[in-house]
This record gives sequence, structure tokens and C-alpha cells, in this order.
Amino acid sequence: MFNTSFQKSNSNKAAPGAKKPRRLTLDSPVQFLKGVGPGLGAVFARRDLHTVRDLLYFFPRHYEDRSRIKRVADLHEDELASVALTVVSASRIPMRGRQMFAVRATDGVQNLNLKWFHVPRGMDARFKPGVQFIATGKPKTFRGQMEIVHPEIHMNSSATVATEGGSVHVGRIVPIYVEIEGISSRILRRVLHQAVTEVAPQLTDDPPGHLLQSHHLIPLREAVATLHFPPENANIDALVDGTSAAHQRLIYDEFFKFEYLVLRQRLNLSRESATALNRAAADAALPGLKAKFPFPLTGDQARAVAEILEDMTKPHPMSRLLQGDVGSGKTAVSLIAAGLALDQGAQAVLMAPTEILAEQHFRNAQKVLPTVFVSGKTPAPARAEVARRLESGEPLLVIGTHALLEPWLKFKTLALVMIDEQHRFGVDQRRTLTEKARPFTPHTLALSATPIPRTLALTAYGDLAISSLRELPPGRSPILTEVLRGASERKAAFETIRSEIQAGRQAYIIFPLIETSESEGFEHLRAATVEFERLQKEVFPTFRLGLLHGGMAPAEKQAVMDAFKSGAVQVLVSTTVVEVGVDVPNATVMVIDHAERFGLSQLHQLRGRVGRGALQSRCYLLAPSRSGEVTETRLDVLEETTDGFKIAEADLKLRGPGEFLGTRQAGALPFKIADLLRDSDWLAKARHDAIVILKADPDLIAPEHAALNRYFQTSGAKQAGRMGA
Ligand code: ADP
Ligand code: MG
Repeated sequence: MFNTSFQKSNSNKAAPGAKKPRRLTLDSPVQFLKGVGPGLGAVFARRDLHTVRDLLYFFPRHYEDRSRIKRVADLHEDELASVALTVVSASRIPMRGRQMFAVRATDGVQNLNLKWFHVPRGMDARFKPGVQFIATGKPKTFRGQMEIVHPEIHMNSSATVATEGGSVHVGRIVPIYVEIEGISSRILRRVLHQAVTEVAPQLTDDPPGHLLQSHHLIPLREAVATLHFPPENANIDALVDGTSAAHQRLIYDEFFKFEYLVLRQRLNLSRESATALNRAAADAALPGLKAKFPFPLTGDQARAVAEILEDMTKPHPMSRLLQGDVGSGKTAVSLIAAGLALDQGAQAVLMAPTEILAEQHFRNAQKVLPTVFVSGKTPAPARAEVARRLESGEPLLVIGTHALLEPWLKFKTLALVMIDEQHRFGVDQRRTLTEKARPFTPHTLALSATPIPRTLALTAYGDLAISSLRELPPGRSPILTEVLRGASERKAAFETIRSEIQAGRQAYIIFPLIETSESEGFEHLRAATVEFERLQKEVFPTFRLGLLHGGMAPAEKQAVMDAFKSGAVQVLVSTTVVEVGVDVPNATVMVIDHAERFGLSQLHQLRGRVGRGALQSRCYLLAPSRSGEVTETRLDVLEETTDGFKIAEADLKLRGPGEFLGTRQAGALPFKIADLLRDSDWLAKARHDAIVILKADPDLIAPEHAALNRYFQTSGAKQAGRMGA
């Protein structure tokens, strides 16, 4: 919508020897700042810092109050403090089958020991003798010596300490920048000083003034200057926590502009045209479609169907996400959606990420709709037949895997595109499928068993309408989950398996690895292949065990799964490949070994393999007795709830948005200062303001929106283009 050709006139790759402008502006190349030049300019450019504006938005990642840095002699037990230290020696000390990492360091007068019981990667390389760093933590006395366990470390080599004249200035707040290789802290500080004093005053306030006033926000130029050069009397806690007035101004700016684009994108989509289903005919077909299932829909299913019907009878493309836990009944909803399209002579497609899942959908769909199946294995004559039927315009639901993306598969009247576990497909793959509807834009329905936390739903998924299945179909007893630590508890879990099998049930035992590994951090992990042998020989000699992992050939995997489904295999020893697509209602126990190694959402997904029928199911999470606070919180969440929506929120809090969006998408969130979790109040305010503006003046014509409009035409054009707004 916005004229993105501005990007070009706005690009700032100054050629070496380019002429210095008379007056520096926000768009001037960094190389024209004093003391930079083409050489250092190129170094900045490698970090994507091309213009003075880019540099002004290169904010400190931390602040340190140097007056608080102590000597070892001044430390007090249990009082949080920072100490500047130099490495004397570092060593790995074996402890009960694990390792401890210990660093002996000195402040020049006295020694201090630092210890890690969980050894992060790369520690040996970081703590070479002579390396200087700042350690922060609560000191303890151990055998008469002062030590800090799991201190927070700031390496002088990984953080650029920016101070006046390069000397540590006691009693002031020091901004800490992420290091730019090849640029010293002195230079960075000097260059930023010029940028802030000479150019930052040109920064304009883009959101309408009355909004900034209503939120009591300071001018942008003042906020940017403060973040780089906090005044002597600044509140360091507010700076560190990101709650200072300067932070708030930037947080609002980022959220407000982002929300405007997200909502604008949705508005654009609603202006695009798609073929609408006839409303009266859809309403008339609905009861018959529902009656094809042997159960009444749950309230949530019925609501989702109504939302979808509403969308598909509009002349604009539906873009909806159907989310709900494993077993919540997404399939029935999606089949009714397809049925609505087929009933009006149109075609529909459902793509799933694995052959097993696709086949399962196909088996269900076949009972209620004219359906064909397509996978990589579909032989040429069968393909030709599918192609012919689609070409003839026959109303069909096509279900399959990635094979659906192949060019031979063409539709005549594709009205609905459905994608199961859509996060497992790339943007390009999803586009390839929707483009098969050409010249029309199809309605799309994405299915996901990993609910999106609300916070993210408001941002990254702003272009989607969401239907949620929170309620499970009746007759399920919630899975009982227990975290077990230590060898005797482990044995007890296996005893439960034994008694369940004797009662005619089946079980899963999950391991994090296929083979044991010598790699650092993986040495202590039990692996599926080895444990399969051991369990069969030593623990369950009279039971039939099967082994399943991602390293097996597809045919082998299929054979094991079939054996498990038929009951020939009683205990399935597996890696996480079992996560999707296995549906064995007779399986009532799952044991997950090394549960501490798995993500929360992943554990929840795995656990969803049991509790598929009316039988009471159990899940045991085996974890070591000391597994750190975060792990414990995480496992506690699983013990307490089986609600995927609550689990997703907890996972977001513990691990950040990257886990939900995939790192690439999370990286695309344009927030430098704002934090989706910490600043969710600001997100709500910004969203509210953006909605008001989009209602009143979507194209930003009004004079009070001129600055905002100019922003999206110039420096914000790139973001607007990327977000399709
Ligand atoms: P999902 O795809 O959301 O994991 P499914 O669609 O596979 O869940 O449904 C799980 C099971 O629940 C299936 O066996 C399905 O037949 C059954 N089911 C779905 N909806 C209902 C309902 N309203 N009442 C009873 N059983 C249902
Ligand atoms: Mg499903």
C-alpha cells in the first residue's frame, strides 16, 4: 500500500570518496561522522548500521552502575554484588557422574572462586587465564573461602564498556553495548556523542501528539539521547529494567507503528476479493454435514464452524487459524468447512506435514466427503486420475503431504486451502498451495495443536482471525502427570507400565537421543537404541518392545507403528518422532526420560499421545534431582495443567517468542527496546490507538497523521513493505 520505492532513494551505501553533505542528517551515512570514514563505515555496515539513524537506534543492551563494583574484601555473604576480576585458572572437576566448572579469579589483591554445576558451552574458551570480566551474584562462604555459584558474567571482550575517555569512571552509570568487532568502545562512544548532539534533535515524533500527551510520553529525541547518555542523576534500576521514561517512549513508538501495520495488513486482506459461498445454501447444508459425524459437536467446535461459515460466505478471503490441543477435534471442524465448499461445487485441499497424519485425515475424511489422497508414493496412473477428476471440476477434497505442491496437481475451482500444523511448512510452500486457486484467492484455514499465546496472537499473527477449541470432547479423563526424580521413582514408573501391560494396555517410553553421544553436554543422556536393548533384556523380558526413531527407513517406521497399533508391540521405545500422528487409544502410560531436555510445548505434545480414549492415562516425567530452577518450574506447569493454552503462556514466559514463531519469524519482529512480555500493557494501549486511527483515517490523510504517513513513506517503508501493509 505504501510506496515502497522510497526504499531505494533512501538507501545509504555511500561509495568510498562520496561527498560529505554540508549538514549531517538522520539519513547520512555513518562514515561522515567525525573519525569514521569509509573504512570504519564498512565495519559499522557489517552490523547493519548504515545511517546515523541506524546508529542512534543501536541502544545499549545493559547499564552498569560502576559505583557498585566492589573488591573481594568488601563482599558480604548473601549480598548481591559485582566484582571486577581477572582469571587465574579454570578447571573441570568431576562430581558424581557430572562435571563442575570452577574458575579461580583475582581482583589483584584477593582471590574469589566461581562455580558452575551446569556447564554452559564454550566455558573453557571464555575463561582463559588473564581474561578480565565482571561477575555479579550472591557470595557464599565455602570451606572458609568466598565463592559465587552461577554468577552472571560480563566479559570485557563481549561487551564494550563505553565511558568518557575510556576510563572506568566510578560513580556513574555506564551503558554497555554489544561489541562491534573492530570498533573500540572509545570510538563508539565518541561517534555516538556526535550523532546524539548534532543529529538526534532532527528526530521527529511520528505518532499523533495528542496520543503521546495522553500517555505522558517524552519527545523521541530526548528519549534516544537519554538511553545513550543517561544523566548523572538517572535511576539506574529503571534503565536496567527498561521502565525509564526514555524506554517507555520507545516502547510505545515500536508497538504503535507495528500494530498500525499489522492491522492495516488485515484491512488490506479484507479489501481483497475471494469467491463467497452462498449464505443461504451454506446454512442449509450445515445440519446435514454435522449429521455425518457419530457425535454432536462440542460447543467450541460448533462456534468454530459458525465463524468459518461466516468468513467463507464473505466476498473476501478468510485467513483463519483453528487452534486446539491434540484431541480437541480439529479434524471434524475442518471437514465441515471442506463440506461447505464441496456442497457448492467447489474444491478443497488439506495438506499435512507427514504421511501418517495425512493418511489419518484421509481415513476420517473418506467417511464423510468425496476425498482423494496424494503423497510422494502415489503412482503415476493414480495421479493422472486425480488430475483428470480435478480438471473436470468435480467437487473433491484432496488430502496429502508436500506432494500436493507438485506442479501436476491443478484445481479447477479451489475455494478452500487447509494446512495442518502449518508452522511446519515454509511461507513459500503455503503460498504455492494457495496459488493453485488462481485466478481466485482461496479461503485459508490453518490448523495448529500448539496454541499461540494471546500476547503473540495480537502481534505476529495480527493478520489471522483465530478460532480456539479449548474444550475437549466429552468422555476423556485428563492425563495424570507426575515429575519423578531419582532411581527408585524411575523404577516405580516402570512398575506402572508393567501393571498396565498386564491389564492389556500399551505404553510409550521416550528418550531424547537416538544413539548415545560423546559430545559435550550430551554424555549423560540415555538413548533410545541402547535403552531399547536394555529394557527388553533386563526390565521387560516377557513383553514385546518395539523401537522407533527418526533414523529408521520410512518402511521400517511404518512397520513398527503398525505393530504398535495392532497391539503386537506392547511398549514403544521411541524418540520424539512419535510426536505427531500416532493415535493408539489403548496406550495409557507414557514415560519421558530426561524430561528436562525437552521444551514445555513439546512435552505437552508428546503427552497428548496418551489419553486418547476413555481410559485413565498417566504420564511420568523423569528428571535428575538437581535440574535448575527454570526446568523445575517448567515441569511443575505440566504436573498442574493439561490445558495447552496455559502451557503455551508459561512456555512463552520461560523461553521467549522465538520458540513459537521460529527464530526467523521472531527475528522479524522489529522490536529493539520493547519486550512483548514485559511491556504487554503498552502493547494493549498501542493497539487500541492504532485501531482508533485505522477506523477514522486508514490512509493517514488527516493533517495530524502527516508525520506518521511520512514515516511510513520514508524510513518506515521497508517495514511496511515487508509486512505487506
Ligand atoms: P485433533 O485433530 O484436534 O487432535 P481429532 O480431530 O483427531 O483431534 O479428534 C480426536 C478424536 O476425538 C477423534 O477420535 C474424533 O473422532 C473425536 N471427536 C472429535 N470431536 C468429537 C466430539 N464432538 N465428540 C466426541 N468425539 C469427538
Ligand atoms: Mg489432528
